Amino acid sequence: MTCADPVANSDQTILDYLFRPMGVDGVYARTRRYEDVVDALQSLISRHRPDEAVVFRFPPVMSLRQLEKQGYLNSFPQLLGCVCALHGTEADVAAAVNRAKEGEDWTRGATSAGLVLSPAACYPVYPIAAENGPVPEEGLTFDVAADCFRHEPSKDLDRLQSFRMREFVRIGAPAQIVVFREQWMKIAESIAESLRLPFVFDRASDPFFGRIGVLMAANQIEQALKFELLIPVRADSAPTACMSFNYHREHFGKTWELVDQQGELAHSGCVAFGIDRLALALFAMHGLNVEEWPGDVQEILRLK
Ligand code: AMP
Ligand code: ZN
Repeated sequence: MTCADPVANSDQTILDYLFRPMGVDGVYARTRRYEDVVDALQSLISRHRPDEAVVFRFPPVMSLRQLEKQGYLNSFPQLLGCVCALHGTEADVAAAVNRAKEGEDWTRGATSAGLVLSPAACYPVYPIAAENGPVPEEGLTFDVAADCFRHEPSKDLDRLQSFRMREFVRIGAPAQIVVFREQWMKIAESIAESLRLPFVFDRASDPFFGRIGVLMAANQIEQALKFELLIPVRADSAPTACMSFNYHREHFGKTWELVDQQGELAHSGCVAFGIDRLALALFAMHGLNVEEWPGDVQEILRLK
């Protein structure tokens, strides 16, 4: 074993120690042992928050219309989960309940509640930013977080359907976004080093849907629009993307008519921390007992 190998904790051992099954792959109850580390990670990230950042904590759902408007359905329809409910009169609802009693699928009678499960923490922030009129010269910075959902069922503990994402978002001129992303890649590097997590950076692409998606992904890589910080969380497979550094160009500016003082479309970028993957990486790398983690790691996380 080299120092860069995760401690040999199988998924089953980690599952037994840190989670409780909830009957569906990729959806777990989290234990106190795990949540204490999640809280510590969130606090560590907060200590790096730029002073000017506006903070929002979003619920796990967002407007279906807003997500449609930004083109999510063309790019990632396979990942999306939407909220349905029983509408109509009391008799309509009772009829659905009765169908369930007869062993039929009651959800056939359910229709959209106008909500989706948020697939990323930053999506709701752009329309909020646009409400305030033109972006100021110095740009805008946000600290956002949400419980996210992506329909990618898997038994791997680093690929969840429901997971937590924390993001810093920057809206402004192209140069401001580029500087922001560079700064955050440096900060992320120092955070990973201080946590003694081995990592590499790589260009990356999002899992765009379908044949056109292949082109979009290639384009994203070619234009270096997405970088990821990858950590070898699992001993037997490729390293896992635990943070991403994204440049959206004018995509959200165009969608939400976000403009600068001169009326030019604003650009945006975000840095996303996969909180559950980072927590898992810590346990995989340093072992299941936090008290036995390297002292400096415990200190950085203020766990002792
Ligand atoms: P992305 O928007 O795909 O760049 O995702 C941002 C971060 O969320 C990634 O770097 C991961 O750390 C985390 N993430 C994405 N998908 C999952 C998943 N299925 N399970 C756990 N964490 C995830
Ligand atoms: Zn984002």
